[in-house]
Amino acid sequence: LHPDVVVVGGGCIGLATAWRCAQSGMRVSLVDPAAGEAASFVAAGLLAPVTEAHPGEEPLLALNLEAARHYESFVDELEALSGFPSGYRRSGTIVAARDRDDLEALEELYRFQVRLGLEVERLRSRELRELEPGLSPRVMGGLFVAGDHQVDPAALTKALVEACDRSGVERIEDRVVSVEAGPVLGLGSGGSLVAGSCVIAAGAWSGSIEGAPASLRRIRPVKGQLLQLRTLSREPAADHNVRGLDVYLLPRTDGRLVVGASMEERGFDRTITAGATHDLLRRAFELLPDVVEHELVQVAAGLRPTTPDNAPLIGWTDELGVLAACGHFRNGVLLADITARTIAETLVTGTAPDAIADFSPGRFSGVVS
Ligand SMILES: Cc1cc2nc3c(=O)[nH]c(=O)nc-3n(C[C@H](O)[C@H](O)[C@H](O)COP(=O)(O)OP(=O)(O)OC[C@H]3O[C@@H](n4cnc5c(N)ncnc54)[C@H](O)[C@@H]3O)c2cc1C
Repeated sequence: LHPDVVVVGGGCIGLATAWRCAQSGMRVSLVDPAAGEAASFVAAGLLAPVTEAHPGEEPLLALNLEAARHYESFVDELEALSGFPSGYRRSGTIVAARDRDDLEALEELYRFQVRLGLEVERLRSRELRELEPGLSPRVMGGLFVAGDHQVDPAALTKALVEACDRSGVERIEDRVVSVEAGPVLGLGSGGSLVAGSCVIAAGAWSGSIEGAPASLRRIRPVKGQLLQLRTLSREPAADHNVRGLDVYLLPRTDGRLVVGASMEERGFDRTITAGATHDLLRRAFELLPDVVEHELVQVAAGLRPTTPDNAPLIGWTDELGVLAACGHFRNGVLLADITARTIAETLVTGTAPDAIADFSPGRFSGVVS
């Protein structure tokens, strides 16, 4: 019996999609050779539509806001089904200015956020330090966004694996090497899979599969390196997420502090470099000086699946039976469930819901750079 849908890739996007499709009553197989390679295990886990808002990316902002609104009910459902924690934390986010240039840039960001009706407060240095006493006295002021939270992506992804297993998703450890309309998927081990439809959710590798639709070939990897520190007391390093313009620090409840992340165009290279580690530590120190006392636990690198307009590809491609759920760049953890639910709805009803109208892969069809 052929599956109704095959999901290619078992990062947070593919896993959530497989789970939501299975919940909608479909027979689902998920193919991934090594899910541990996924960006989803490396990501920081900012759920930050407001502090990640950029001029010119308003449709993405709307999707991010919608995802953030439903995040708590998503993780509640996932935790209840899987029995695993997700590390979701309603921490709020401070954006701090280290100097006058930062302050000016934040002033501009604030005006943009307010124009869009987003919830943000502008605070002076003293007010910020009342909120977050560990902030450097040199911080000159900044913003507070009460609605930008965090989750632990590695924990979330593990919970999604369990949710898939408990929902009857068949997980196949293999690589998809080719895709043909139909769809028919060629496997690295030699066999092939025929399905009602397939969803390509192979992150930065989505365009590398032979026969992948032209729109997916526009996806490129953007490398990110990030650090995990840990307080010696195992108490949280801060009460809120703390960002500068070029760094963010996410305090977990168990004392870990995630410091991210570099943005590098290096193809599929994932080398850990001294330079990126140095830059991240220096920037972290400028915001929370106590980091020098923390243990350095891990340095990791992952590949963000990136599109020419920084927005994801979600929905039908030009190839018969082939859908895309990829290209989520800096927001894949935030967008996992909304992507999954809209793909499942597309498959059930045959029509793409309005929420993903702006993210159709068709916007890159036939344009090869
Ligand atoms: C340093 C860093 C920090 C980040 N921080 C955040 C953040 O704070 N908030 C946020 O929302 N997002 C963040 N992101 C982005 C987020 O990690 C990604 O957008 C998201 O993980 C993408 O998920 P994915 O499932 O599409 O891809 P991935 O997680 O990369 O998974 C792709 C999967 O596809 C599999 N695969 C590849 N090729 C094939 C094939 N041919 N056949 C079968 N399977 C295949 C791989 O083995 C892998 O398991 C960050 C990313 C990085 C790198």
